Amino acid sequence: MSQRLPDSIIIVGAGIWGLSTALAIARRYPSIEITLVDRQTPPVEDGASVDTTRCIRADYADPVYTQLAEEAQKKIEEDPELVPFYFKQGMTFVCNGESRPILDFWKKGLENNKKSSNDRLVQMPTPESVYQRLHGQSAQLVPENILNEKRQWNLGYCNLDDAFIDAKECTRVYYERCLKYPSISFRCGVPVQRVCMSNGRTSGVLLEDGQTLSASQVLIAAGAWSNQLLYLEGLAVSNGIAVAWIKLTEDEIAKWKNMAITTNLDTGLNLFPPHNGEMKVLLRSIGYQNTVSIPHPEDASKKIQTSLPRTLLTNPTDVIPPQVEARLRDNLRELMPSLANRPFDRTKICWVSKTPSSDFIIAPHPAIEGLHVATGDSGHGWKFITTIGDMILDSMEGTLDKKLAERWAWAAKGPDNGAAPGVGGNPTELRHVVRSRL
Ligand SMILES: Cc1cc2nc3c(=O)[nH]c(=O)nc-3n(C[C@H](O)[C@H](O)[C@H](O)COP(=O)(O)OP(=O)(O)OC[C@H]3O[C@@H](n4cnc5c(N)ncnc54)[C@H](O)[C@@H]3O)c2cc1C
Repeated sequence: MSQRLPDSIIIVGAGIWGLSTALAIARRYPSIEITLVDRQTPPVEDGASVDTTRCIRADYADPVYTQLAEEAQKKIEEDPELVPFYFKQGMTFVCNGESRPILDFWKKGLENNKKSSNDRLVQMPTPESVYQRLHGQSAQLVPENILNEKRQWNLGYCNLDDAFIDAKECTRVYYERCLKYPSISFRCGVPVQRVCMSNGRTSGVLLEDGQTLSASQVLIAAGAWSNQLLYLEGLAVSNGIAVAWIKLTEDEIAKWKNMAITTNLDTGLNLFPPHNGEMKVLLRSIGYQNTVSIPHPEDASKKIQTSLPRTLLTNPTDVIPPQVEARLRDNLRELMPSLANRPFDRTKICWVSKTPSSDFIIAPHPAIEGLHVATGDSGHGWKFITTIGDMILDSMEGTLDKKLAERWAWAAKGPDNGAAPGVGGNPTELRHVVRSRL
């Protein structure tokens, strides 16, 4: 049975999950007053939603996410304000053909796509075919003896239905859309210090400047910062992923302008097509954590240790650690040799809220009435921009599809389901390896 929502709701976090939820509430319930609170005015530069570009793909090993991603992508394509920032150039998925779990994710992704779009798949069964897809039919592979490791870009397929999107501009579109609704207001510039709770229920939030905002329903959609505001019991942790941008010449832009996003599931490299004169590269690894001691979100007299984002907003001279730069350059040496030694224009660590299975957490707080959470995006939540808000609202009303509600419950998650395939291992403590720009 549907739960009645109160007259006013506070949403903490104006990334695409928070913005999408505000729009969903405003459309379904025009009389509910919604206050979106963020540390910054959207598009928030150090939020996960604003990292120049994002992949829009339905290549999931898990058919549940394939279906959700297809629905969301269709809605992006139907949205005239998002379409100018959407580039359907395909995505190439490569693996080295050796390691079992990754090869299985790769095969499942291929099979799921074959079912729906066989004519839109280009198979690349050899390292030559992977390389020539980027550099032309006559291009010769880089000799293996000048690489630092064995060839990694061996077996691939390109799904021509996949796309990349300008994440920042689309966040701006959603922000400006929210501004048009009289029922949505923004409180940006001052972080929420804590959620106000007493006698097992919430009454609003306290801002860092001492102001209190009152509401009997609060949604925490604060991405990788959510564990600062909620005690997540380790269900999700903040993980940082290294990203770098390389400026391209006019000739390079012309050569690669129609390329697909190209990713290697074994090494974790993601290479984006040229956009605004630059190429973005990132390493989908388990990445970094930034462990700090903070007051317990539900009992300020206690302290907890947790990982929280360390971003360019607070540490503007940070650059990515040398180990990850070396991994990025090793990949480029094999796949994009002319860029392997090119200086990065800029780099950053982008933070996600990661669950072990990569399933989201979209659920009521188990003990505090009126408190809801939408986090645990696990590095694959952007593509649902058009649908996530309605699903979060369904969850707040208690009407979310039962299977999704179980999957996204406030509960320990199972093993990695390959939703956001990355390189496994343990995160490195960022402060031990971080460098500063001189
Ligand atoms: C490197 C990288 C690559 C990715 N690639 C993809 C991809 O290709 N495709 C895809 O679908 N997804 C991808 N993702 C994941 C995607 O970016 C996220 O799932 C999505 O952006 C999550 O949005 P969000 O609104 O939950 O979080 P965010 O955008 O991080 O928003 C959280 C907001 O909360 C605010 N906030 C935090 N603390 C407070 C506080 N105390 N008070 C007030 N406000 C607060 C922040 O300022 C921020 O604006 C990737 C993520 C990363 C890092």
